[in-house]
This record gives sequence, structure tokens and C-alpha cells, in this order.
Amino acid sequence: MRASQFLIATQKETPADAEVISHQLMLRAGLIRKLASGLYTWLPAGLRVLQKVEKIIREEMNRSGALEVLMPVVQPAELWEQSGRWQQYGPELLRIKDRHDRDFCLGPTHEEVITHLVSNEIRSYKQLPINLYQIQTKFRDEIRPRFGVMRSREFIMKDAYSFHLDQDSLVRTYDVMYQTYSAIFNRIGLDFRPVIADNGSIGGTGSHEFHVLADSGEDDIAFSDSSDYAANIEMAEAVQLGERGVATADLEKVATPNAKTIEEVCKTLSVDPKQTVKTLLVYGVNEEGEREGLVALVLRGDHQLNEIKAEKQPAVYAPLTMASDEDIKKALGCSAGSIGPVGMKLTVIVDRSASALTDFVCGANEDGFHYTGANWERDAECATVADIRNVVEGDPSPDGKGNLLIKRGIEVGHIFQLGDKYSKALNAKVLDESGKESVVTMGCYGIGVTRVVAAAIEQNHDAQGIIWPESIAPFQLALVPMNMQKSERVKETAEKLYQELTAAGIDVLMDDRNERPGVKFADIELMGIPHRIVIGDRGLDNGTLEYRHRRAENNEDISLDDVVSFIQ
Ligand code: ATP
Ligand code: MG
Ligand code: MG
Ligand code: MG
Repeated sequence: MRASQFLIATQKETPADAEVISHQLMLRAGLIRKLASGLYTWLPAGLRVLQKVEKIIREEMNRSGALEVLMPVVQPAELWEQSGRWQQYGPELLRIKDRHDRDFCLGPTHEEVITHLVSNEIRSYKQLPINLYQIQTKFRDEIRPRFGVMRSREFIMKDAYSFHLDQDSLVRTYDVMYQTYSAIFNRIGLDFRPVIADNGSIGGTGSHEFHVLADSGEDDIAFSDSSDYAANIEMAEAVQLGERGVATADLEKVATPNAKTIEEVCKTLSVDPKQTVKTLLVYGVNEEGEREGLVALVLRGDHQLNEIKAEKQPAVYAPLTMASDEDIKKALGCSAGSIGPVGMKLTVIVDRSASALTDFVCGANEDGFHYTGANWERDAECATVADIRNVVEGDPSPDGKGNLLIKRGIEVGHIFQLGDKYSKALNAKVLDESGKESVVTMGCYGIGVTRVVAAAIEQNHDAQGIIWPESIAPFQLALVPMNMQKSERVKETAEKLYQELTAAGIDVLMDDRNERPGVKFADIELMGIPHRIVIGDRGLDNGTLEYRHRRAENNEDISLDDVVSFIQ
């Protein structure tokens, strides 16, 4: 690519509303532009990176035996009604109507659509297992879109869904996906950790998240300093709470008239605001005693009542403080009657920020009312209040090997063993060996493709800009001819090298712009191009070129004759 024909959209100024470095650098390097909150255009340089990430993902998914499909972004409400998620999915689901007044949504994920497809296409156990994937646009109306493409509303996900006759087969594919994800993130060159994750409302058993370690990450990861143990901190805490990993509370609703702030609420309830739980992860329990739904309540002393809302956004989400009893039931995904805000059985996992647990456990669900949780069950299986404590660095690792370290992580991938939640609801059955109809078992596997690009920058940058891992750089090499307009020799050499390097399969950006060298160097560094070669008359006198790696401090001379092999 010749820079004169490319859109180099670099900017000097750091955009004011970009908080994290990847967001700043993606704007400054001309990779993305914001259209509206959580909506971004990918410019040519950014798209080159994105497509390289996609290529690696595609190659590894194909290698694993998965088959690529492409499903619609717009999904009919009927399928979501069948799975129950039309009701359960909170405001993150963008619902739309067509001209015939029929309900649709923009797909935040595709379990319903793929299960519907498979229920029609797959008839026999002989066609299983099958793993279908796509790389496609998702839409989630995130409560707080931020950090650029790291948490946007429209984003690209690689999502895969596998179908099996039995659990053993699911576990085998799950393991293959675990290996495939590791291969993908290794090839991209990320410092990542697979961690034990909670599968929230999705149901089923096994689940791992893949986290890129970076201070800007939104999750805390606890991992052992001397084994492979690593878990999202919620899970590490759940483990600490004992076998069930939970404490159960019967909640009571208490009138707190006129209370506007948490302080006032606490006063009415005679509890110490400093002693209140700051974050609770709350699960509803359905009739079979399974966990369903997840909401988080955030109680902070300085928040106004109206601002107390669920901060964590799992698949099911409810701003409990403002929800009606009916909304809470819906959001928790429990069938009517099995729960109610008063006397509701809740499974509670306390976040690390909880300094102590008192009787006061929960926020209001409507103006003038709060929950209290005076009746903690303390049976043998449940953790007692005293057991609930924070996981902190230095704690013994739950696997008994070494001590825990805690770091921030960016969730770039997530794999689940789903079980039969969707296949049952959408009637995906096959004939088994004995000719009997059998509901299939499912797994699902996601990678945030656009988020990976931002995460790579979080781990690879310096004061001058991005430092791309070679595997996903928009260009591997920048060729900078000095004084090209005047020196015929430089011009000829540059053209020749450009042809040779390109022919050798190297992605070259030849900076043939009529700009000062300083401007070109700054752009090349900001854009994070890993290799730079400067062609000048002085070097050519000695048959050399000036080479510098993006991470190096100084130039080195390389022989004009060895350029291609040097770069390869
Ligand atoms: P998060 O916890 O960050 O909200 P999630 O658990 O809701 O993510 P999943 O449903 O597991 O997301 O989706 C699979 C992957 O899609 C995630 O691991 C993440 O990499 C990516 N992803 C999810 N939400 C977003 C978003 N708003 N913007 C960009 N990528 C996202
Ligand atoms: Mg989410
Ligand atoms: Mg998550
Ligand atoms: Mg997830």
C-alpha cells in the first residue's frame, strides 16, 4: 500500500472522552471513529487489523473441525419467546417492530437461531457432534457503553454452538474449544489466562472465560502463583463459601419512607452504612432449586437512591432498585409464584468490595421500600455469614497449591457447556442409536473479535503509540524513502524494494507522502507498524538501509541485498 493512496487518519490530540489507552490510541491512530454512543466505524487501517484477527480465528476454528455459517442479525421474537428470553432478557436486548407490527430483536447472541436451525436440519445422532460458528455483528444495548470498541453496543463476535448426543461428547468438544481458544490468543500474541467462570443464567455446568491481563480490565482475576488455578474472582469467592458456594437469605421488605440516600435508608433500618454490603450478586432459585438469573445490587454510601442499579450485566439483568415485583420475577427468570421480593429465597455471593455483612443486604425495589435480610440460613450446607469474606491477594489458592495473585482482566472469550436449556425449549431432538428421540446437548463459545483489537493495544503500547504484535499489525513494515522527490536513486530503490517485499508476502506501507520525515515517523510509530526501513542517499552509498524495530531504541544498518530475508 502506498501511503499517498491510503487513508492515514492520525491525530495529535488525545480525545477528551477516551478514558483508556486503547480507546485513545485507536482514535489517534485513525483506526476507528465514533458515530454515536457505542457505535463505531472501522477505518481502513483498523479494518486491516480486525480482518487479521478474524483470519486467525477462522483458521483455528476451521482446524478444530467447526463449520462456518452466517445467521441474520435481526431475529424474530417468537424464537425468544420459546426460549423464555423475550421476557428474561433485560433492556440490553434491542427490540424492534417491522411494518406489519411484528416483534423482532437485534441479536445479542444466537442460541435461539442456531438451535432452531439445528432442530430442522439435524435428524440423526450420526450427524453429531457438529460445531457451527459465525463471525458476525452483535447488538447489545449496554447500560454503559465505554472504552471504545472494548464495550460497545454494536460489536463483532465469533460465536460457535456445538450439538451432541451426550455430555461426554460435549466435554470433548468443549476441551477442543479450550485448546482452540488458547491457540488463537497465542497466535495473536496476547498475554492471557483461561479462568474458571460462572455461567450465570445460562445454566449447565462448565464454563471458562479467557482474559487478557491489563489494568484497564473490568474483571478481577484470582490466580495461583504456583499452579494453573485461575478464576474470575466471583468464582474464587464462591469456592471460599464452601461446597454450595452460597449463603441463602430470606429477604423482608421494609418501608423506608422519604429516604433518598443510602445513609438515610441505613438510618431508618438502624444499620451502619459503612458496614453494608457494597455489591451483591444475587441469583434467583427456581422450583427445581437451580440457579436462574443473576442481578447485582450496588449499594454505595454516596449514591442517590435512583442511581443504585445493577452494575454487572449478565444475560439477565434488572435494575432492581427501580423494578416492580413483577419485573424482578421476570428478570430473575423464575416462574411466577416461585419467588417474590418479599420472603424471596435468594442465593447470594458477596463481592470482594463487601467489607462486612450485616442484616442489611439489599436495595429498594421501589421508592420507599428496602429489603432487609435478617434471616440468614446457617445450615451445614450453606456458608454462614462469618464465612463470607473477601478473597485477597496472598490467600491460599482453592486448589491447595500456592497463594492467590489478583490482576485485572479483559474478557475476550467465553466458553460454556449449556446443556439442554435451548434444545429442550426449541425442541432440538435427534434419533439415537435405538431409534428413540433424544434432546441434544449444547455448548457455546464466544470471542469478542472487536474487543480483542482493543485488548491487544492495552498490552502493547508506549508513549509514541501502538506496538502491534506482528500477527495483527495493519502493515508489518513501513518503507520510508528520504527525499524521494529529488533523489532518483532513492525513488528507484524504494520502488524496487516495495515490489520485492510485497511479492514476498509482506504487508508494506510505502510512505511516499510529500511530508517531513518527522511527520512520517510519528505516524508510523503511532500506527504501531512493527518494522521500519528508511532509504536514504547516504546509506545507499554504502549499500545499506536504516532499520528499526518498533520496540528498539536505535537504528541499525542492514544490507540492501538482504532486506527480504532480514524481515522474514
Ligand atoms: P462482559 O462481561 O464484558 O459484558 P459478556 O460476558 O456479557 O461480556 P458474552 O455473552 O460471554 O459476553 O459474549 C462473548 C464475548 O463477546 C465476550 O467474552 C466479550 O469478549 C465479547 N463482548 C461481550 N459484550 C461486548 C461488548 N459490549 N463490546 C464488545 N465485546 C463484547
Ligand atoms: Mg455483558
Ligand atoms: Mg462476562
Ligand atoms: Mg461472558
